[in-house]
Amino acid sequence: MIIVMNATATTEDIQAVVERLTERGFDIHKSTGAQHTVLGVVGGSVAVDARDYELLPGVGEVIRISEPYKLVGRLFRKEDTVIDVRGVKIGGNEIVLMAGPCSIESRSQIFESAKFVKEAGGKILRGGAFKPRSSPYSFQGMGIEGLKHMREAADEYGLIVISEIMDKSELPTALKYIDIIQVGARNMQNYTLLRELGNMPKPVLLKRGMSATIKELLMSAEYIMAGGNHEVMLCERGIRTFENYTRNTMDISAIPILKSLSHLPVIADPSHGTGIRDKVAPMARASVAAGADGLLIEAHQDPDNALSDGAQSLYPEQLNDLMKQLRIISQAVDRTIAPESQKVTVG
Ligand code: PEP
Ligand code: MN
Repeated sequence: MIIVMNATATTEDIQAVVERLTERGFDIHKSTGAQHTVLGVVGGSVAVDARDYELLPGVGEVIRISEPYKLVGRLFRKEDTVIDVRGVKIGGNEIVLMAGPCSIESRSQIFESAKFVKEAGGKILRGGAFKPRSSPYSFQGMGIEGLKHMREAADEYGLIVISEIMDKSELPTALKYIDIIQVGARNMQNYTLLRELGNMPKPVLLKRGMSATIKELLMSAEYIMAGGNHEVMLCERGIRTFENYTRNTMDISAIPILKSLSHLPVIADPSHGTGIRDKVAPMARASVAAGADGLLIEAHQDPDNALSDGAQSLYPEQLNDLMKQLRIISQAVDRTIAPESQKVTVG
């Protein structure tokens, strides 16, 4: 149930409604919009009668929601959610580039990555330390040591860190080094992990599972939000279909659909979405045209020798060229994107 308070409702009116609901065992999530405060009412074991609340002072409207997702939906929050990660705003007018290698491979590799990502106009450095590989014999990532290198590299170049966590046991240490926690496609329905992240004051990028529907993706985001963590980004990274020319089928249509159903920022990952280097830029361009709030792109200084996903990683110059094109496309859809930085020299 959603309770929309009147524009004239006082703090006391809102408090009284919240108290009445909490006494009856409901969890209340408050969203303060430009005009109205909206209360998302979830949980509780007693049946609710909307009339009990409609007549309370300050209440404008009580809406029953038939969709299974409540907090992620546009009814709960009309305005787009903008997540501020240490000054970088995700979900606002500016499209944000998150880029870097699939895996952190060494200290020098991640420092070089940070440099070319910054120069291309990226704001966020990606790199996996805990890798969900399909084979147990493939490189599994550098773990915490890798995260320490990435943190240092990001700090040196003024970037923010996004990295994947696969298990809740990794969280306490990893949280010291990561700004945005990535939940990978294979973990989209790991509800124990999602619940844990719901109690965390850290933004989460939630990837769509490879066989997940849009509704299932939204329900997984609801798990995180229901725990109290409202800083969730949704990521389209391709789904498994009968087509096997590409590694996955990049579902561009999911972008405008998610944007209309949910207020959460939508990020596109054309690297895993296609698995083919020369298809990454066209899908990135399409994603921006379709309304994505950001891009998550794999890039490597020496993709031919990368320890994972080299075949879908851009060369630094390709990342730079792509950003030049995105500057033109973003203008056409009334968005902005960071300008190219000057050559960066540090230290
Ligand atoms: C990754 O980002 O490197 C990754 C493993 O992604 P996904 O979970 O989408 O496969
Ligand atoms: Mn990868």
